[in-house]
Amino acid sequence: MVRGSCLCGDVAWEATGQFDLMSHCHCSMCRKTHGTAFATWVATETSGFRMVRGGDGVARYESSPGFQRCFCARCGSSVPRVPGDGEPGGERVFVPAGCLDDDPGVRPLSHIFVGSKAPWFAISDDLPRFDAYPPGIGGEVKRGARAPAIREGALRGSCLCGAVAFELDAKPALLVHCHCSRCRKARAAAHNSNMFVREGELRWVRGEDHVTQFELPEADVFGTRFCSTCGSMTPRPGEQSGAVPVSGGALDDDPGDLPVIRIFCGSKAPWFEITGDQPAFDAYAPGRS
Ligand SMILES: [Zn+2]
Ligand SMILES: [Zn+2]
Ligand SMILES: [Zn+2]
Repeated sequence: MVRGSCLCGDVAWEATGQFDLMSHCHCSMCRKTHGTAFATWVATETSGFRMVRGGDGVARYESSPGFQRCFCARCGSSVPRVPGDGEPGGERVFVPAGCLDDDPGVRPLSHIFVGSKAPWFAISDDLPRFDAYPPGIGGEVKRGARAPAIREGALRGSCLCGAVAFELDAKPALLVHCHCSRCRKARAAAHNSNMFVREGELRWVRGEDHVTQFELPEADVFGTRFCSTCGSMTPRPGEQSGAVPVSGGALDDDPGDLPVIRIFCGSKAPWFEITGDQPAFDAYAPGRS
């Protein structure tokens, strides 16, 4: 039995079948929805899959015709979409691996949609890379249209549905990939990828009142901000330090080279291998908390 749940715990599921086809997807829709550099999906048999609770609390957003992305309406975590009876390909459920509570026993096979990967993220492992779907798996390739430039020097960001948009007036100071269990659940991904700016450097262009706020009750300070319509992770101003975490996946423009660190590597997902030569810490980076 492999269990999964969203960050707030309202939505939970379990699967008794085999898992397979684990892949890291770098498509722009996954990046925006999860707010990360990439999302990791794994498939399991629909016949062995069951929602344990919270099916009523699942919001849906149709990101392409006939394809819905599902998220917890309270905390924003991406959750599996259970196929309808008789749906083509419906014998498999695709599950965002970051929300799994147990090890599915399989490991990633490839990186897919590398043709649309984030310019600020470098793949450092040896897994096969495919520009779109791997050979033999069909599907149409879509690329999001880029919005026209608004202001010289500003970095634009937006959610998948476009209701929420913001600008950064400065290049972020740091990119942090956090592997802690809360960030993995919040992003339903291997790790989050937050870029940090100062409070005054974030400006909402539209949709600030369309952002749902969730604070995890059992945490001192841990919460999510996401678009109420599409579930995409948005910036989270208001921290005491004055630093604003911006979900890297939301950015439409390339911030260029940023210093990168990995934190909470000691709590990483069992199915994810950390590679590359970026500074990596078991918990917080020294001097930060
Ligand atoms: Zn939730
Ligand atoms: Zn994708
Ligand atoms: Zn949206």
